[in-house]
Amino acid sequence: MEKHHKFSIWYVLIGIWAVLLLQNYIASMYRVEIIPYSQFLNYLKGGNVQEIAITENEIQGKMKVGGEEKTFKTVRVDPELSTMLEQYHVIFKGKIESTLLRDLFSWVFPIFIFIGIWYFMMKRMSGQQAGFMTLGKNKARIYMENELNVTFNDVAGVDEAKQELVEVIDFLKEPARFTELGGKIPKGILLVGPPGTGKTLLAKAVAGESGVPFFSLSGSEFVEMFVGLGAARVRDLFVQAKQKAPCIIFIDELDALGKARGVGGMSGHDEREQTLNQLLVEMDGFDPKVGVILMAATNRPEILDPALLRPGRFDRHVLVDRPDKMGRREILKVHLKNIKATRDIDVDKLADMTPGMVGADLANLVNEAALLAVRRNKKEVDMSEFEEAVERIIAGLEKKNRLINKNEREIVAYHEMGHALVALSLPGTDPVHKISIIPRGIAALGYTMQVPTEDRFLMKKTELLNRIATLLGGRAAEELVFGDISTGAHNDLSRATDIAKSMVKEYGMSTSMGQVYLAHEKRLGFIDMGLPEKTDYSEATAETIDREISDIIATQYERALDILKSRKDVLRKGAALLLEKEKIEGEEIRALLEDAA
Ligand code: ADP
Ligand code: MG
Ligand code: ZN
Repeated sequence: MEKHHKFSIWYVLIGIWAVLLLQNYIASMYRVEIIPYSQFLNYLKGGNVQEIAITENEIQGKMKVGGEEKTFKTVRVDPELSTMLEQYHVIFKGKIESTLLRDLFSWVFPIFIFIGIWYFMMKRMSGQQAGFMTLGKNKARIYMENELNVTFNDVAGVDEAKQELVEVIDFLKEPARFTELGGKIPKGILLVGPPGTGKTLLAKAVAGESGVPFFSLSGSEFVEMFVGLGAARVRDLFVQAKQKAPCIIFIDELDALGKARGVGGMSGHDEREQTLNQLLVEMDGFDPKVGVILMAATNRPEILDPALLRPGRFDRHVLVDRPDKMGRREILKVHLKNIKATRDIDVDKLADMTPGMVGADLANLVNEAALLAVRRNKKEVDMSEFEEAVERIIAGLEKKNRLINKNEREIVAYHEMGHALVALSLPGTDPVHKISIIPRGIAALGYTMQVPTEDRFLMKKTELLNRIATLLGGRAAEELVFGDISTGAHNDLSRATDIAKSMVKEYGMSTSMGQVYLAHEKRLGFIDMGLPEKTDYSEATAETIDREISDIIATQYERALDILKSRKDVLRKGAALLLEKEKIEGEEIRALLEDAA
C-alpha cells in the first residue's frame, strides 16, 4: 500500500503544476503592462488612454502610445490625494497588498486538507487489508536488552513460574555449557494463566534477565487477510531469529493463531490454518541447540490445537496463576516503588482488601491512588487514597463479574471446607492437599485439591460412596451453615451423579439391580441417526435405575451432613481461616481436626 499512495500524491502534484502552467500561458496571451498610477495620470492627460474599466482595486484599459495599442493595468489610488501628490511631484503608485496569505487559505490549504483526508483514508484501508504491499515482512519488534529493562524483580507473586523459568535463563546465558553436556533444552514454553497475571511481563523478564534479543509478536498479527502472508511471516520470523541466536521468540495470545484446526467451519480460516501449519513446521525444524527459545502466552489453553502441545513443541507449560494474599502484597510493593507514597502504607491491609485481583488490577490500583492524590493536591499518596482506589476498582470489577463479593466468598469458603472436612473424615479418600477460594477459570470459585497417594486401578464400593459423599460435602456445608443452598454445587452434583450411575449400570453395585451390566454402548448406524437411543432394558428397569441413583445420592448426602454436623466447630474455624488466608494446606486442617478431637 505504501508505494501505491505515494505514487498518487505525485499525480496530484503534477496536476497542480499543470494548472499553474496553463494559467501562466493564458495570461501571456493578453500581455498586460502594469504601470504606476502617476504614469497612468500622465497618459491620461496626454490623451493616450482610450477606454478603461474600473474595479475596486484596479483600473484596466487600452491606450495608444506612439501608434501602438497597449493593454495596461494600474492599481487605483485615492484620487484626491493624487492631485496633491502631483502638485508636489511625488512619484506615486498603487499597491495591492500581498494576497499570498489569502491564497494560502483559500486554496492551498484546502488542497492540503484534502490530501490529508485522503491519505488518512488510504491508511485506514491499508490497515484493514494488512500488508497488501508489505508482503509478509514481519512486524516482530526486537527489544534489545538495554531497551528491555524488565527483570524478575518487576514480576512478583508468581514464584513458582519464575522458578521454572530460571533454567531457561541459564541456558540462554550460556547455551554452549548446556549443549556440551548433551542436556535437552525445552523448545517451547507456554505460559498459561488468566488475563493480567503477568504473562507478557514474565516473558520480557526472561529476556531481560538473560540479556538476549526478544522477538515479540501477537498471535493476531500473524493472521493476515491475504492467504499465504501469515505463513510467510512465520518463516521470516524464524530466519531472523536464527541469525540473532541466542534469543527468544515470544508469541503473545497464541490462541488467536493456534485455535484448534477444523473448528469454526467454513473457509476464511484457511489462512490461520496455513499459518499454524507453518509454525508447526518451523518448530519441528529448528534445533534448540542454536539457542532460539520459543515462548508463548495464552489464557485459553483449552482451545489450542492439540498439535501445538505435543512433545517437542509447546510441551512445557508454566502456570501463571492469580496471586494469593502474599503474592498480592509483593506485587503491590513492586508498584509502590514507582510512586511517592507515605511511609506508613499498610500493604498487608491492601492485600487483604483485594481478593481476586491480578497483577494488572493491582498496578491499576496504585496508579489510581496516585491520580487521586494529585487531584487532592497532596505531595504524597497516603492510605486514604489507596482505600478509595480499592473501592472504585472493586466496583468496576464486580460489574464485570470478575470479583466475587464478600457474601459469596463466605459461601465458597464454607462449601470448600465442607468438601475437605468430609474427605478428611472418611477413610479411603484421597488426602486433601490444598483448599483455595481464589477463583480459577470461569466456572470454579474455589477448589479443594485432593492428590491420590498412588495410582489406582480398582475402586471398592465403599471408596466410591465416600467419593460421592465428599463431592456432596460442599452443598451439605452450605445447607448446614446458611440454611440455604447455592448454584455453586452444580459441577459436584454432576460428578457425583456420574459415579452413582456407573455404580448402578456398569459395576453392578446396587442392591435392587444386582450384578448386571446395563451400559452397553449403542452404535448408532447411519440409518438410526436422530432416533431416540434404544436401550436393551425395560421401562421398569429404567425406573429402578433412576431410583437407585437418587437413593445413593440421598444417602451419601445425609452422611456428609452428619459428618459436618458433628464437626461444626472445625467447619467454622476452617472457613474463617480460609477467608483470612484464601489458601490453606491440608496439614492445617488436619491440625484443626486434631485440636478439636
Ligand atoms: P498478561 O499478559 O498476563 O495478560 P501482563 O503481563 O500484560 O498480563 O500484565 C499487565 C501489567 O500488569 C504489567 O505490565 C504489570 O504492570 C502488571 N502486572 C501483572 N502481573 C504482575 C506481577 N506478577 N507482578 C508485577 N506486576 C504485574
Ligand atoms: Mg499479555
Ligand atoms: Zn464443590
